[in-house]
Parts: sequence; structure tokens; C-alpha cells
Amino acid sequence: MNPIIDLRSDTVTKPTPAMLQAMFQAPVGDDVYSEDPTVNELQAYGANLFGMEAGLFCPSGTMTNQIAIKLHTQPLSEVICDRTSHIYVYEGGGIAFNSAASVHLVDGVRGKITPQQVEAAINPDNIHFPVTRLVSLENTCNKGGGSYYTVPEIAAIAEVTRKHGIALHLDGARVFNALVASGEDARAYGNHFDTISVCLSKGLGAPVGSLLLGPKPLIEQAKRVRKVLGGGWRQAGYLAAAGLYALQHHVERLREDHDHATQLGNALQQAPYVTEVMPVETNIVIFTLASEVNTDHFLKYLQGKGIVASSFGPQKIRFVTHLDLSPEMVQDIINALADFAQ
Ligand SMILES: *Cc1c(COP(=O)(O)O)cnc(C)c1O
Repeated sequence: MNPIIDLRSDTVTKPTPAMLQAMFQAPVGDDVYSEDPTVNELQAYGANLFGMEAGLFCPSGTMTNQIAIKLHTQPLSEVICDRTSHIYVYEGGGIAFNSAASVHLVDGVRGKITPQQVEAAINPDNIHFPVTRLVSLENTCNKGGGSYYTVPEIAAIAEVTRKHGIALHLDGARVFNALVASGEDARAYGNHFDTISVCLSKGLGAPVGSLLLGPKPLIEQAKRVRKVLGGGWRQAGYLAAAGLYALQHHVERLREDHDHATQLGNALQQAPYVTEVMPVETNIVIFTLASEVNTDHFLKYLQGKGIVASSFGPQKIRFVTHLDLSPEMVQDIINALADFAQ
């Protein structure tokens, strides 16, 4: 039996043998006392990559995003973000639950919003309105089909937030996909964002964990919030070692995932039963099935070929490419797509 080809998400990757070795060998200590050398090394390494002062290793990207929002807002504050943002759609209503803040949704294009939209969404200083305190960008944009912001686009938004004294956060769950695709240097981000969340457990292939990066005093506060959320962990160095290994060995290879996604996008363009494929920019492929094709039937057909994928809205399917997808598997998918008879 061939292994299952799992296109549901890039979170499904398992540690490679070399990553497991790094985990076995990690020196560890109690991270609640800040005494885990591997956690400390990962936090410093990540911060330095992005030109930030400090980092905090957390169990998930939801936690790093929610901690950042908590730190930048007060109750009665408002957060500006795109309507399809992960922080709004997929974090269980955490902005209201954790921060008692409201949200100003902006209709971006494939998840990306503009400086003009941000400026227009900032509330006037008037007691009828919540106080705009934070803008959050997502790079790459999940629901935008892996679209990405370039550094100049980010800089233009940062100019607006700075002018108005508003914080700028990055949900960089897949930020390295954006950086590899654009060829830009991560250090440039440090000049523009107040805080950055980076997932190690997506395309980078670590089993668990995200980093929150920012200025030292803010990250010290972040450690308090992480504690109160139950995220104070002890010998987390075994997990941090996987994250460190991922940052040191799995960034450049994201190009392969992008190449695989492009191949799948091209195959879908040829398929008579597909009406639209979102432009493929990184490792996500979102496409729309013709109205006469039943989505469940299509997914079951793929399952019969050992391929699993996610439904992503009416008639929409998402494929995500990743570390555990070989060129042979991509060819198997392309063959299966060609053989589908509606
Ligand atoms: C995966 C993801 C996160 C964080 O998810 P966790 O599962 O909590 O680690 C945040 N933002 C985006 C855009 C994501 O894709």
C-alpha cells in the first residue's frame, strides 16, 4: 500500500530522521525559569533573523497571534485586518475572548489590504468609536491562495500605522514561503512590524511550535500572557531543537513546494471540470469545481487514489504542498486529476 498523499495542510509533516536526531541531542532545562538553553537559542536565532530584539517560543500560531493582540490592545480597542484573516476566521473568536477588542474588517484582494484601506479604516478620535490600536497583516495569505506582500508593500502600510501611532503585527504563519518566493531578506521585516508570529510547524516541518518576535520589554510581557494561557512549558527544548533545525535546514527547500504547487495548478488549469484556479504564488492551490461536479464525490474519488484534500468553501478545494510530498507523489496526483471523469 502506498503512503497516503496528504494535501490537507502543510501542518501534517512529520520530523525527518535528521530533525529527530537534533531533538534527541538537545540540551534542555526548565523554560518557565528561562533555563532551557535550546529554547533560548531558538528565540535568539529567530529574533536575529528578522532583525528583532527578542523572541518567545509558544505551542501554536494561534497563541502567538492572540498574545500579540492582547499586548497591543485594551478593551474598547479595535483591530484592523482583512475579512479572511486567520486571526478573525480561524482563531475561535479569540480576539473577543482574550482581548475584549472589536475588529474592523477590510475587503482586501486575495487577503491583501492596501495602505489606503488601512487609513480609511482608522477611527476618528470620538467616543462613539472604538480606539484603533492595531493593524494585523497575514503573509502569506491562507485564504488568498498563498498570495504574499512584498517588503515595499509592507513598508507603505507601516508608514500609515506609524503616522497614526498604531501597532503593526504580522501573522507570519507562512512568512518564509513569502520570503523565498520574493527573494527578500527577513531582516527587512524588523523595521516595519512591532511583532511577528512565525510558525515552525507548517512548511518548515517542525512537529510543534511558533515564535513571537518583538522588542524585549514587550516579549517579557508576552511571557506573562503565555503563562496565564497555560503555555508555560518546561523542557520544551526538545521541541525547540526541531524548530531550530527547521530554520537552519528547511527554508530554502520551500522552493520545491512552490514548484510542486505550480505543477498542480497547471494540471488543474487543464482539467475540464475546474472553472477557476487562483494564481499559484507559493505552496497553496485553491480551485473551484464546475457547478455540475459534486465536491464530496470529487474528494472521495481522490481518496480512492490515496490522496486527501480539504473542501474550502462551496465548490472550492485547497491543496497545500509540503516537505512530505515527493515529486513522484505530485506525478500521482497529476495522473489522478487527468483521470477524473465527472
Ligand atoms: C496555521 C496558521 C496559524 C496558526 O495556527 P496554529 O494551528 O494555531 O499553529 C495562524 N495563521 C495562519 C495564516 C495559519 O495558516
